[in-house]
Order: sequence, then structure tokens, then C-alpha cells
Amino acid sequence: MTKEMIKKTGGCFCGEIKFNVSLDKKPRVFNCHCIDCRKKIGGMITIIQLRDNAIEIDKNKLNIFEHNGGSGNKIKKFFCKKCAAPVLTYVSKWDKYYLYAGMLDDISILKSAYNIFYENSHFPFMEISESNIKT
Ligand SMILES: [Zn+2]
Ligand SMILES: [Zn+2]
Repeated sequence: MTKEMIKKTGGCFCGEIKFNVSLDKKPRVFNCHCIDCRKKIGGMITIIQLRDNAIEIDKNKLNIFEHNGGSGNKIKKFFCKKCAAPVLTYVSKWDKYYLYAGMLDDISILKSAYNIFYENSHFPFMEISESNIKT
């Protein structure tokens, strides 16, 4: 990692999960409006793409739910064994981990986000300007 990274802390609702994570100054943040995320969490989700080995976390405290994504690739959702808060998602297609943004203690650096899978599956009450939509 040559870029300057920012250290952040985070954890789940019940406090069982605590982690340290290194983020870019401008992290890659996505609001995912897809049906899979909606059904897994109950609404639109916000996730941060992580660089390799960017997070220090005790995976023994996480349960895993695995399923096939749209193009047949494996997706693993990691969530707290105790409170079921979603913590990480692993997408095999990109070989990347994504952190559920709300798990961060301090969200002040999350100043912009791309909206993905917006077109066909966003909530009708949620209007987002064209420029923030990634197709
Ligand atoms: Zn928890
Ligand atoms: Zn999604």
C-alpha cells in the first residue's frame, strides 16, 4: 500500500465485533439498491470497497451466509453471530471485501457514493441525481 491510508475503528450493534480498518482518504463507497441486498438487509445498503488486508477483524465471531450472485459468482455475507449485524461482504468476481459502511464508528469521511443497481430496484421515494448513478 503506497497510498496514504486513514485508520478507522468500527464494530457491530452489540459490541461483540470490533475492528480496525485502513481506508483511502476518499474511499470507494457504493449504495447498492439491488434486490439481493434488499432482501438480505431490508433496504438499500451502503458498502465500502476495501483494499487487500485492510481490515483487522476476528472472523471467528462472524457467521457466513453464502450465495450465488447475478453472474454465478460466489458472494459471502459475514455477520455478527450475536446481533446479526452485517459486517462484511466478499465478492469472488472482484476478489474484494466490502465493509458495511454503517459499522464504522465515524462516518464523516464518507462524503460521496456511487449508486448501483438503482434503475430497476430502488425505492420509489428515493430520488438520486443522475450524476451519482453508476450504470
Ligand atoms: Zn454484534
Ligand atoms: Zn446489492
